[in-house]
Amino acid sequence: MMNKRYLVALDQGTTSSRAVVFTLEGHMICQAAQEFPQHYPHPGWVEHDPADILSTQIESLRAAVRKAEIDPEEIAAIGITNQRETTFVWDRETGACLHNAIVWQCRRTAPLVDTLVAQGYGPVIREKTGLVADAYFSGTKLKWLLDELNLRERARKGEVCFGTVDSFLAWHLVEGHPHVTDATNAGRTMLFNLHTQDWDDELLAMLDIPREMLPKVVDTAQVIGFLRQDLLGVKIPVASLVGDQHAALFGQACFAQGDVKNTYGTGCFMLMNAGEEFRLSKNGLITTMAWRLNGKPTYAFEGSVFMGGATIQWLRDEMHMISTAAESEAVAAGVADTGGVYLVPAFTGLGAPYWNMYTRGTLVGMTRGTGRAHIVRAALESIAYQSRDLFAAMARDCGTSSAALRVDGGASANQLLMQFQADLMNVPVLRPAVLETTALGAALLAGLAVGMYSDLKETAAGWHVADTFEPHMEEALRQEKIHGWRRAVDAALHWAEER
Ligand code: ADP
Repeated sequence: MMNKRYLVALDQGTTSSRAVVFTLEGHMICQAAQEFPQHYPHPGWVEHDPADILSTQIESLRAAVRKAEIDPEEIAAIGITNQRETTFVWDRETGACLHNAIVWQCRRTAPLVDTLVAQGYGPVIREKTGLVADAYFSGTKLKWLLDELNLRERARKGEVCFGTVDSFLAWHLVEGHPHVTDATNAGRTMLFNLHTQDWDDELLAMLDIPREMLPKVVDTAQVIGFLRQDLLGVKIPVASLVGDQHAALFGQACFAQGDVKNTYGTGCFMLMNAGEEFRLSKNGLITTMAWRLNGKPTYAFEGSVFMGGATIQWLRDEMHMISTAAESEAVAAGVADTGGVYLVPAFTGLGAPYWNMYTRGTLVGMTRGTGRAHIVRAALESIAYQSRDLFAAMARDCGTSSAALRVDGGASANQLLMQFQADLMNVPVLRPAVLETTALGAALLAGLAVGMYSDLKETAAGWHVADTFEPHMEEALRQEKIHGWRRAVDAALHWAEER
Protein backbone atom coordinates (compact mmCIF):
# COMPACT_ATOMS: atom_id res chain seq x y z
CA MET A 1 0.00 0.00 0.00
CA MET A 2 2.89 2.35 0.81
CA ASN A 3 3.86 3.05 -2.76
CA LYS A 4 0.32 3.93 -3.83
CA ARG A 5 0.56 7.65 -4.42
CA TYR A 6 -1.68 8.45 -7.36
CA LEU A 7 -5.26 8.27 -8.53
CA VAL A 8 -6.31 8.34 -12.17
CA ALA A 9 -9.63 9.57 -13.54
CA LEU A 10 -10.94 8.59 -16.95
CA ASP A 11 -13.26 11.40 -18.03
CA GLN A 12 -15.26 10.31 -21.05
CA GLY A 13 -16.99 13.47 -22.33
CA THR A 14 -19.23 14.39 -25.24
CA THR A 15 -16.48 15.71 -27.48
CA SER A 16 -13.32 14.20 -26.01
CA SER A 17 -11.98 11.40 -23.84
CA ARG A 18 -9.52 12.44 -21.15
CA ALA A 19 -7.38 10.91 -18.46
CA VAL A 20 -6.11 12.89 -15.49
CA VAL A 21 -3.49 11.88 -12.93
CA PHE A 22 -3.85 13.22 -9.37
CA THR A 23 -1.88 12.82 -6.18
CA LEU A 24 -3.77 11.46 -3.18
CA GLU A 25 -3.88 15.06 -1.90
CA GLY A 26 -5.90 16.05 -4.95
CA HIS A 27 -3.18 17.88 -6.88
CA MET A 28 -3.37 17.46 -10.62
CA ILE A 29 -0.14 16.09 -12.10
CA CYS A 30 -1.07 16.00 -15.75
CA GLN A 31 -3.76 15.14 -18.23
CA ALA A 32 -4.14 13.91 -21.78
CA ALA A 33 -7.16 14.25 -24.04
CA GLN A 34 -8.29 13.09 -27.45
CA GLU A 35 -11.23 14.40 -29.42
CA PHE A 36 -13.40 12.10 -31.52
CA PRO A 37 -15.92 12.67 -34.33
CA GLN A 38 -19.60 13.44 -33.81
CA HIS A 39 -22.11 11.86 -36.17
CA TYR A 40 -25.33 13.59 -37.22
CA PRO A 41 -27.18 11.06 -39.44
CA HIS A 42 -30.34 13.22 -39.52
CA PRO A 43 -31.19 16.73 -38.27
CA GLY A 44 -31.45 16.57 -34.48
CA TRP A 45 -29.83 13.11 -34.26
CA VAL A 46 -26.44 12.66 -32.59
CA GLU A 47 -24.35 9.47 -32.45
CA HIS A 48 -20.89 8.34 -31.36
CA ASP A 49 -18.95 5.41 -32.75
CA PRO A 50 -18.26 3.11 -29.75
CA ALA A 51 -14.87 2.16 -31.22
CA ASP A 52 -13.83 5.84 -31.16
CA ILE A 53 -14.87 6.18 -27.53
CA LEU A 54 -12.88 3.13 -26.53
CA SER A 55 -9.74 3.90 -28.52
CA THR A 56 -9.54 7.57 -27.48
CA GLN A 57 -10.10 6.62 -23.85
CA ILE A 58 -7.36 3.98 -23.89
CA GLU A 59 -4.98 6.29 -25.77
CA SER A 60 -5.50 9.16 -23.35
CA LEU A 61 -4.97 6.85 -20.36
CA ARG A 62 -1.67 5.63 -21.74
CA ALA A 63 -0.59 9.15 -22.73
CA ALA A 64 -1.42 10.65 -19.32
CA VAL A 65 0.50 7.97 -17.42
CA ARG A 66 3.44 8.35 -19.80
CA LYS A 67 3.43 12.15 -19.44
CA ALA A 68 3.17 11.94 -15.65
CA GLU A 69 6.36 9.84 -15.65
CA ILE A 70 5.03 7.67 -12.87
CA ASP A 71 5.29 3.95 -12.32
CA PRO A 72 1.81 2.47 -12.95
CA GLU A 73 2.42 0.39 -9.80
CA GLU A 74 1.99 3.62 -7.85
CA ILE A 75 -1.61 4.12 -9.01
CA ALA A 76 -3.91 3.28 -6.12
CA ALA A 77 -7.12 3.19 -8.15
CA ILE A 78 -8.88 4.37 -11.28
CA GLY A 79 -12.25 6.15 -11.39
CA ILE A 80 -14.45 6.46 -14.47
CA THR A 81 -16.67 9.50 -15.02
CA ASN A 82 -18.73 10.05 -18.13
CA GLN A 83 -21.14 11.99 -20.31
CA ARG A 84 -24.51 10.85 -19.01
CA GLU A 85 -27.50 9.15 -20.68
CA THR A 86 -25.67 8.15 -23.90
CA THR A 87 -26.93 4.68 -24.78
CA PHE A 88 -25.13 1.55 -26.01
CA VAL A 89 -26.26 -1.99 -26.83
CA TRP A 90 -23.82 -4.84 -27.38
CA ASP A 91 -23.65 -8.60 -27.86
CA ARG A 92 -22.93 -10.34 -24.54
CA GLU A 93 -21.00 -13.12 -26.28
CA THR A 94 -18.72 -11.11 -28.57
CA GLY A 95 -18.87 -7.64 -26.97
CA ALA A 96 -19.58 -6.15 -30.39
CA CYS A 97 -21.79 -3.07 -30.35
CA LEU A 98 -24.97 -3.51 -32.36
CA HIS A 99 -25.40 0.17 -33.24
CA ASN A 100 -23.65 3.49 -32.76
CA ALA A 101 -24.18 4.98 -29.31
CA ILE A 102 -27.16 7.34 -29.18
CA VAL A 103 -25.91 10.53 -27.55
CA TRP A 104 -27.79 12.38 -24.78
CA GLN A 105 -28.38 15.38 -27.07
CA CYS A 106 -30.18 13.25 -29.67
CA ARG A 107 -33.85 14.22 -30.12
CA ARG A 108 -34.95 11.18 -32.19
CA THR A 109 -37.23 9.86 -29.46
CA ALA A 110 -39.03 13.14 -28.71
CA PRO A 111 -42.28 11.87 -30.36
CA LEU A 112 -42.09 8.73 -28.24
CA VAL A 113 -41.86 10.85 -25.10
CA ASP A 114 -44.88 12.90 -26.26
CA THR A 115 -46.81 9.63 -26.55
CA LEU A 116 -45.81 8.52 -23.04
CA VAL A 117 -46.89 11.87 -21.65
CA ALA A 118 -50.20 11.70 -23.55
CA GLN A 119 -50.74 8.23 -22.07
CA GLY A 120 -50.41 9.81 -18.62
CA TYR A 121 -47.00 8.41 -17.64
CA GLY A 122 -45.52 11.82 -16.73
CA PRO A 123 -46.37 11.74 -12.99
CA VAL A 124 -45.28 8.09 -12.55
CA ILE A 125 -41.92 8.85 -14.15
CA ARG A 126 -41.51 11.90 -11.96
CA GLU A 127 -42.49 10.14 -8.72
CA LYS A 128 -40.27 7.12 -9.29
CA THR A 129 -37.22 8.54 -11.04
CA GLY A 130 -37.22 12.21 -9.97
CA LEU A 131 -36.90 13.14 -13.67
CA VAL A 132 -39.12 15.00 -16.11
CA ALA A 133 -40.13 12.74 -19.03
CA ASP A 134 -37.69 13.67 -21.80
CA ALA A 135 -35.88 12.19 -24.79
CA TYR A 136 -32.63 13.24 -23.13
CA PHE A 137 -32.68 10.23 -20.76
CA SER A 138 -31.65 6.71 -21.88
CA GLY A 139 -34.98 4.84 -21.59
CA THR A 140 -36.60 5.89 -24.85
CA LYS A 141 -33.28 5.68 -26.69
CA LEU A 142 -33.02 2.03 -25.62
CA LYS A 143 -36.60 1.33 -26.69
CA TRP A 144 -35.79 2.86 -30.08
CA LEU A 145 -32.78 0.54 -30.47
CA LEU A 146 -34.77 -2.54 -29.45
CA ASP A 147 -37.48 -1.66 -31.98
CA GLU A 148 -35.18 -0.61 -34.78
CA LEU A 149 -32.81 -3.58 -34.50
CA ASN A 150 -35.55 -6.05 -33.56
CA LEU A 151 -33.59 -7.14 -30.50
CA ARG A 152 -36.26 -7.95 -27.91
CA GLU A 153 -36.18 -11.73 -28.17
CA ARG A 154 -32.42 -11.86 -27.96
CA ALA A 155 -32.45 -9.34 -25.12
CA ARG A 156 -34.96 -11.48 -23.22
CA LYS A 157 -32.60 -14.45 -23.52
CA GLY A 158 -29.82 -12.31 -22.03
CA GLU A 159 -27.84 -12.25 -25.27
CA VAL A 160 -27.77 -8.46 -25.52
CA CYS A 161 -26.46 -5.91 -22.99
CA PHE A 162 -27.57 -2.33 -22.44
CA GLY A 163 -25.27 0.20 -20.86
CA THR A 164 -24.41 3.89 -20.55
CA VAL A 165 -20.82 5.05 -21.14
CA ASP A 166 -19.66 3.91 -17.70
CA SER A 167 -20.98 0.36 -18.30
CA PHE A 168 -19.54 0.25 -21.78
CA LEU A 169 -16.08 1.28 -20.53
CA ALA A 170 -16.23 -1.04 -17.51
CA TRP A 171 -17.10 -3.96 -19.79
CA HIS A 172 -14.17 -3.25 -22.10
CA LEU A 173 -11.52 -2.02 -19.67
CA VAL A 174 -12.05 -4.25 -16.65
CA GLU A 175 -10.94 -7.88 -16.58
CA GLY A 176 -13.78 -10.39 -16.79
CA HIS A 177 -16.21 -8.01 -18.56
CA PRO A 178 -18.38 -6.95 -15.61
CA HIS A 179 -21.83 -5.73 -16.71
CA VAL A 180 -22.38 -2.94 -14.19
CA THR A 181 -23.43 0.68 -13.84
CA ASP A 182 -23.46 2.90 -10.78
CA ALA A 183 -26.51 4.46 -9.18
CA THR A 184 -25.81 7.99 -10.53
CA ASN A 185 -25.78 6.70 -14.09
CA ALA A 186 -28.70 4.34 -13.55
CA GLY A 187 -30.64 7.35 -12.26
CA ARG A 188 -30.44 8.98 -15.72
CA THR A 189 -32.16 6.17 -17.61
CA MET A 190 -35.80 6.92 -16.64
CA LEU A 191 -35.92 3.19 -15.69
CA PHE A 192 -34.38 3.35 -12.22
CA ASN A 193 -36.55 3.74 -9.14
CA LEU A 194 -34.78 6.06 -6.72
CA HIS A 195 -36.87 4.80 -3.78
CA THR A 196 -36.10 1.09 -4.21
CA GLN A 197 -32.68 1.73 -5.80
CA ASP A 198 -33.52 -0.88 -8.42
CA TRP A 199 -34.78 -1.06 -12.01
CA ASP A 200 -38.54 -0.52 -11.94
CA ASP A 201 -40.86 -3.17 -13.44
CA GLU A 202 -43.62 -0.71 -14.30
CA LEU A 203 -41.21 1.58 -16.17
CA LEU A 204 -39.60 -1.39 -17.93
CA ALA A 205 -43.06 -2.56 -19.02
CA MET A 206 -43.91 0.98 -20.19
CA LEU A 207 -41.05 0.79 -22.72
CA ASP A 208 -41.06 -3.02 -23.14
CA ILE A 209 -37.46 -3.34 -21.99
CA PRO A 210 -36.32 -6.82 -20.83
CA ARG A 211 -34.69 -6.75 -17.39
CA GLU A 212 -32.22 -9.43 -18.58
CA MET A 213 -30.32 -6.84 -20.63
CA LEU A 214 -29.76 -4.36 -17.79
CA PRO A 215 -26.49 -3.95 -15.89
CA LYS A 216 -26.15 -4.63 -12.19
CA VAL A 217 -26.33 -1.37 -10.24
CA VAL A 218 -23.33 -0.81 -7.96
CA ASP A 219 -22.34 1.91 -5.49
CA THR A 220 -20.63 5.03 -6.81
CA ALA A 221 -17.43 4.14 -4.93
CA GLN A 222 -16.88 0.39 -5.20
CA VAL A 223 -14.17 -1.81 -6.67
CA ILE A 224 -15.73 -3.43 -9.71
CA GLY A 225 -12.60 -5.29 -10.79
CA PHE A 226 -9.10 -4.73 -12.11
CA LEU A 227 -7.95 -2.83 -15.16
CA ARG A 228 -7.05 -5.14 -18.05
CA GLN A 229 -3.39 -6.06 -17.58
CA ASP A 230 -2.49 -5.35 -21.19
CA LEU A 231 -3.34 -1.65 -20.79
CA LEU A 232 -0.71 -0.52 -18.26
CA GLY A 233 0.93 -3.83 -17.45
CA VAL A 234 -0.15 -3.89 -13.79
CA LYS A 235 -3.20 -4.76 -11.69
CA ILE A 236 -5.06 -1.56 -10.76
CA PRO A 237 -8.51 -1.55 -9.15
CA VAL A 238 -11.23 0.28 -11.06
CA ALA A 239 -13.03 1.68 -8.08
CA SER A 240 -15.66 4.19 -9.13
CA LEU A 241 -18.20 4.79 -11.85
CA VAL A 242 -19.94 8.17 -11.68
CA GLY A 243 -21.85 10.51 -14.01
CA ASP A 244 -19.93 13.72 -14.80
CA GLN A 245 -22.11 16.23 -12.94
CA HIS A 246 -22.27 14.00 -9.86
CA ALA A 247 -18.48 13.64 -9.97
CA ALA A 248 -18.16 17.43 -10.07
CA LEU A 249 -20.46 17.74 -7.04
CA PHE A 250 -18.17 15.30 -5.22
CA GLY A 251 -15.01 16.96 -6.54
CA GLN A 252 -16.32 20.27 -5.15
CA ALA A 253 -16.64 18.56 -1.75
CA CYS A 254 -20.37 19.30 -1.58
CA PHE A 255 -20.80 16.71 1.16
CA ALA A 256 -23.28 18.58 3.37
CA GLN A 257 -26.94 19.04 2.59
CA GLY A 258 -27.36 22.47 0.93
CA ASP A 259 -23.84 22.55 -0.57
CA VAL A 260 -24.14 23.60 -4.20
CA LYS A 261 -21.92 23.81 -7.28
CA ASN A 262 -22.38 25.32 -10.72
CA THR A 263 -20.37 24.24 -13.76
CA TYR A 264 -20.09 27.00 -16.40
CA GLY A 265 -19.51 25.15 -19.66
CA THR A 266 -21.40 25.26 -22.95
CA GLY A 267 -24.46 24.95 -20.73
CA CYS A 268 -24.46 25.39 -16.97
CA PHE A 269 -25.22 22.55 -14.57
CA MET A 270 -26.15 23.38 -11.01
CA LEU A 271 -26.41 20.57 -8.49
CA MET A 272 -27.18 20.82 -4.81
CA ASN A 273 -26.69 18.12 -2.23
CA ALA A 274 -30.29 17.50 -1.11
CA GLY A 275 -29.52 15.04 1.68
CA GLU A 276 -30.51 11.45 2.29
CA GLU A 277 -34.24 11.84 1.95
CA PHE A 278 -35.90 11.72 -1.48
CA ARG A 279 -37.81 14.92 -2.25
CA LEU A 280 -39.38 16.26 -5.41
CA SER A 281 -38.79 19.88 -6.39
CA LYS A 282 -41.79 22.22 -6.49
CA ASN A 283 -39.80 24.65 -8.60
CA GLY A 284 -39.03 22.81 -11.82
CA LEU A 285 -35.78 21.11 -10.78
CA ILE A 286 -35.15 17.40 -11.14
CA THR A 287 -34.17 15.05 -8.34
CA THR A 288 -31.20 12.86 -9.08
CA MET A 289 -28.65 10.77 -7.19
CA ALA A 290 -25.75 12.73 -5.73
CA TRP A 291 -24.01 9.36 -5.15
CA ARG A 292 -24.54 6.06 -3.39
CA LEU A 293 -21.94 5.02 -0.83
CA ASN A 294 -22.10 1.75 1.15
CA GLY A 295 -25.58 1.19 -0.20
CA LYS A 296 -26.79 4.54 1.17
CA PRO A 297 -28.16 7.05 -1.35
CA THR A 298 -27.57 10.79 -1.16
CA TYR A 299 -29.83 12.83 -3.44
CA ALA A 300 -29.32 16.07 -5.34
CA PHE A 301 -31.45 18.71 -6.98
CA GLU A 302 -30.31 19.54 -10.50
CA GLY A 303 -31.10 22.40 -12.84
CA SER A 304 -29.46 23.43 -16.07
CA VAL A 305 -29.02 26.52 -18.20
CA PHE A 306 -29.09 25.57 -21.89
CA MET A 307 -27.18 28.64 -23.08
CA GLY A 308 -24.27 29.29 -20.73
CA GLY A 309 -20.86 29.65 -22.41
CA ALA A 310 -22.73 28.98 -25.65
CA THR A 311 -24.08 32.55 -25.40
CA ILE A 312 -20.49 33.78 -25.52
CA GLN A 313 -19.79 31.52 -28.51
CA TRP A 314 -22.79 33.13 -30.20
CA LEU A 315 -21.35 36.62 -29.57
CA ARG A 316 -18.10 35.44 -31.11
CA ASP A 317 -19.24 33.28 -34.04
CA GLU A 318 -22.56 34.81 -35.12
CA MET A 319 -22.48 38.43 -33.89
CA HIS A 320 -18.69 38.89 -34.33
CA MET A 321 -18.67 41.21 -31.31
CA ILE A 322 -15.62 39.49 -29.77
CA SER A 323 -12.86 37.38 -31.25
CA THR A 324 -12.28 35.06 -28.29
CA ALA A 325 -14.48 33.99 -25.38
CA ALA A 326 -11.98 35.46 -22.92
CA GLU A 327 -12.21 38.87 -24.65
CA SER A 328 -15.80 39.15 -23.43
CA GLU A 329 -14.45 40.18 -20.03
CA ALA A 330 -12.38 43.14 -21.20
CA VAL A 331 -15.13 44.36 -23.53
CA ALA A 332 -17.80 44.12 -20.82
CA ALA A 333 -15.51 45.90 -18.37
CA GLY A 334 -15.45 48.87 -20.75
CA VAL A 335 -18.86 49.94 -19.39
CA ALA A 336 -20.03 50.24 -15.79
CA ASP A 337 -23.27 48.38 -16.47
CA THR A 338 -25.48 47.30 -19.37
CA GLY A 339 -27.31 50.64 -19.42
CA GLY A 340 -30.60 48.84 -18.83
CA VAL A 341 -30.11 46.25 -21.59
CA TYR A 342 -31.04 42.61 -20.92
CA LEU A 343 -30.37 39.64 -23.18
CA VAL A 344 -32.50 36.53 -22.59
CA PRO A 345 -30.58 33.90 -24.60
CA ALA A 346 -33.54 31.53 -24.93
CA PHE A 347 -32.31 30.37 -28.34
CA THR A 348 -33.64 26.86 -27.76
CA GLY A 349 -36.25 27.69 -25.12
CA LEU A 350 -35.88 28.12 -21.37
CA GLY A 351 -35.26 25.32 -18.87
CA ALA A 352 -35.81 25.34 -15.10
CA PRO A 353 -37.59 27.08 -13.51
CA TYR A 354 -39.54 28.35 -16.59
CA TRP A 355 -39.71 25.24 -18.83
CA ASN A 356 -40.87 26.85 -22.03
CA MET A 357 -39.51 25.27 -25.20
CA TYR A 358 -41.05 27.92 -27.49
CA THR A 359 -39.31 30.98 -26.02
CA ARG A 360 -36.64 32.51 -28.24
CA GLY A 361 -33.77 34.93 -27.72
CA THR A 362 -34.86 38.41 -26.69
CA LEU A 363 -32.89 41.66 -26.35
CA VAL A 364 -34.69 44.46 -24.48
CA GLY A 365 -34.00 47.90 -23.04
CA MET A 366 -31.84 49.36 -25.82
CA THR A 367 -31.46 53.11 -26.31
CA ARG A 368 -29.72 55.20 -28.95
CA GLY A 369 -26.59 55.00 -26.76
CA THR A 370 -26.47 51.20 -26.56
CA GLY A 371 -23.22 49.82 -27.94
CA ARG A 372 -21.30 46.59 -28.35
CA ALA A 373 -19.92 46.65 -24.80
CA HIS A 374 -23.43 46.88 -23.31
CA ILE A 375 -24.60 43.90 -25.30
CA VAL A 376 -21.50 41.82 -24.51
CA ARG A 377 -22.00 42.68 -20.85
CA ALA A 378 -25.68 41.77 -21.02
CA ALA A 379 -24.73 38.40 -22.56
CA LEU A 380 -22.29 37.65 -19.74
CA GLU A 381 -24.78 38.80 -17.12
CA SER A 382 -27.47 36.56 -18.64
CA ILE A 383 -25.42 33.53 -17.60
CA ALA A 384 -25.42 34.82 -14.03
CA TYR A 385 -29.15 35.68 -14.04
CA GLN A 386 -30.10 32.22 -15.31
CA SER A 387 -27.83 30.58 -12.74
CA ARG A 388 -29.33 32.75 -10.02
CA ASP A 389 -32.81 31.59 -11.05
CA LEU A 390 -31.69 28.00 -10.39
CA PHE A 391 -30.05 28.95 -7.10
CA ALA A 392 -33.25 30.68 -5.98
CA ALA A 393 -35.37 27.67 -7.03
CA MET A 394 -33.13 25.42 -4.93
CA ALA A 395 -33.47 27.79 -1.97
CA ARG A 396 -37.28 27.73 -2.32
CA ASP A 397 -37.25 23.91 -2.37
CA CYS A 398 -35.03 23.73 0.70
CA GLY A 399 -36.50 26.60 2.68
CA THR A 400 -33.03 28.09 3.17
CA SER A 401 -30.43 29.58 0.88
CA SER A 402 -27.01 27.96 0.55
CA ALA A 403 -24.16 29.88 2.16
CA ALA A 404 -21.96 29.92 -0.95
CA LEU A 405 -21.71 28.77 -4.55
CA ARG A 406 -18.79 26.60 -5.69
CA VAL A 407 -17.90 27.10 -9.34
CA ASP A 408 -15.95 25.39 -12.12
CA GLY A 409 -16.03 24.98 -15.92
CA GLY A 410 -14.49 27.06 -18.73
CA ALA A 411 -16.46 30.28 -18.19
CA SER A 412 -15.71 30.32 -14.45
CA ALA A 413 -12.37 31.81 -15.51
CA ASN A 414 -14.24 35.07 -16.18
CA GLN A 415 -13.68 37.31 -13.13
CA LEU A 416 -16.36 39.81 -14.09
CA LEU A 417 -18.93 37.05 -14.47
CA MET A 418 -17.99 35.48 -11.13
CA GLN A 419 -18.14 38.83 -9.30
CA PHE A 420 -21.51 39.64 -10.84
CA GLN A 421 -22.72 36.16 -9.88
CA ALA A 422 -21.75 36.77 -6.25
CA ASP A 423 -23.38 40.21 -6.28
CA LEU A 424 -26.58 38.88 -7.78
CA MET A 425 -26.96 35.94 -5.39
CA ASN A 426 -25.65 37.83 -2.39
CA VAL A 427 -23.43 34.91 -1.34
CA PRO A 428 -19.71 34.32 -1.88
CA VAL A 429 -18.64 32.49 -5.03
CA LEU A 430 -15.82 30.01 -4.35
CA ARG A 431 -13.49 28.98 -7.15
CA PRO A 432 -11.25 26.02 -6.28
CA ALA A 433 -7.61 25.52 -7.19
CA VAL A 434 -8.37 22.43 -9.27
CA LEU A 435 -11.01 23.39 -11.84
CA GLU A 436 -11.03 19.81 -13.15
CA THR A 437 -13.59 18.95 -10.50
CA THR A 438 -15.28 16.21 -12.55
CA ALA A 439 -12.05 14.24 -12.90
CA LEU A 440 -11.07 15.05 -9.32
CA GLY A 441 -14.43 13.76 -8.04
CA ALA A 442 -14.06 10.46 -9.87
CA ALA A 443 -10.48 10.08 -8.61
CA LEU A 444 -11.42 10.85 -5.00
CA LEU A 445 -14.35 8.42 -5.12
CA ALA A 446 -12.00 5.71 -6.39
CA GLY A 447 -9.54 6.57 -3.61
CA LEU A 448 -12.33 6.33 -1.06
CA ALA A 449 -13.32 2.89 -2.36
CA VAL A 450 -9.81 1.46 -1.94
CA GLY A 451 -9.33 2.91 1.54
CA MET A 452 -6.99 5.82 0.74
CA TYR A 453 -9.31 8.02 2.82
CA SER A 454 -11.14 6.92 5.92
CA ASP A 455 -14.15 9.21 5.45
CA LEU A 456 -15.58 12.08 3.40
CA LYS A 457 -13.86 14.65 5.57
CA GLU A 458 -10.47 13.25 4.65
CA THR A 459 -11.50 13.19 1.01
CA ALA A 460 -12.43 16.87 1.24
CA ALA A 461 -8.84 17.73 2.06
CA GLY A 462 -8.30 17.44 -1.71
CA TRP A 463 -10.51 20.50 -2.30
CA HIS A 464 -8.93 23.95 -1.89
CA VAL A 465 -10.47 27.35 -2.62
CA ALA A 466 -8.18 29.49 -4.78
CA ASP A 467 -10.42 32.56 -5.26
CA THR A 468 -13.36 33.94 -3.31
CA PHE A 469 -15.70 36.53 -4.84
CA GLU A 470 -17.53 38.35 -2.05
CA PRO A 471 -20.84 40.06 -2.82
CA HIS A 472 -20.65 43.86 -2.77
CA MET A 473 -23.80 45.08 -4.49
CA GLU A 474 -26.28 47.19 -2.55
CA GLU A 475 -29.53 45.39 -1.87
CA ALA A 476 -31.71 47.98 -3.65
CA LEU A 477 -29.64 47.77 -6.81
CA ARG A 478 -29.59 43.96 -6.66
CA GLN A 479 -33.38 43.85 -6.43
CA GLU A 480 -33.71 46.36 -9.25
CA LYS A 481 -31.53 44.26 -11.54
CA ILE A 482 -33.33 41.02 -10.69
CA HIS A 483 -36.65 42.77 -11.32
CA GLY A 484 -35.37 43.94 -14.71
CA TRP A 485 -34.32 40.40 -15.61
CA ARG A 486 -37.77 39.06 -14.67
CA ARG A 487 -39.41 41.64 -16.92
CA ALA A 488 -37.08 40.66 -19.75
CA VAL A 489 -37.95 36.97 -19.28
CA ASP A 490 -41.64 37.92 -19.20
CA ALA A 491 -41.17 39.72 -22.51
CA ALA A 492 -39.58 36.60 -24.01
CA LEU A 493 -42.35 34.35 -22.67
CA HIS A 494 -45.01 36.76 -23.89
CA TRP A 495 -43.52 36.77 -27.38
CA ALA A 496 -43.65 32.95 -27.38
CA GLU A 497 -47.33 32.95 -26.31
CA GLU A 498 -48.37 34.99 -29.34
CA ARG A 499 -46.97 32.25 -31.59
P1 ADP B 1 -17.68 22.21 -22.23
O1 ADP B 1 -17.11 21.26 -21.22
O2 ADP B 1 -19.17 22.34 -22.20
O3 ADP B 1 -17.13 22.04 -23.61
P2 ADP B 1 -15.91 24.19 -21.04
O4 ADP B 1 -15.98 23.96 -19.58
O5 ADP B 1 -14.68 23.79 -21.78
O6 ADP B 1 -17.22 23.66 -21.75
O7 ADP B 1 -16.14 25.77 -21.26
C1 ADP B 1 -16.22 26.29 -22.55
C2 ADP B 1 -17.31 27.34 -22.61
O8 ADP B 1 -16.97 28.42 -21.76
C3 ADP B 1 -17.47 27.90 -23.99
O9 ADP B 1 -18.86 27.98 -24.28
C4 ADP B 1 -16.87 29.30 -23.94
O10 ADP B 1 -17.61 30.20 -24.73
C5 ADP B 1 -16.97 29.65 -22.48
N1 ADP B 1 -15.82 30.42 -22.00
C6 ADP B 1 -14.54 30.01 -21.94
N2 ADP B 1 -13.75 30.98 -21.43
C7 ADP B 1 -14.55 32.03 -21.15
C8 ADP B 1 -14.34 33.32 -20.58
N3 ADP B 1 -13.13 33.74 -20.18
N4 ADP B 1 -15.42 34.12 -20.46
C9 ADP B 1 -16.65 33.71 -20.83
N5 ADP B 1 -16.90 32.50 -21.35
C10 ADP B 1 -15.87 31.67 -21.52
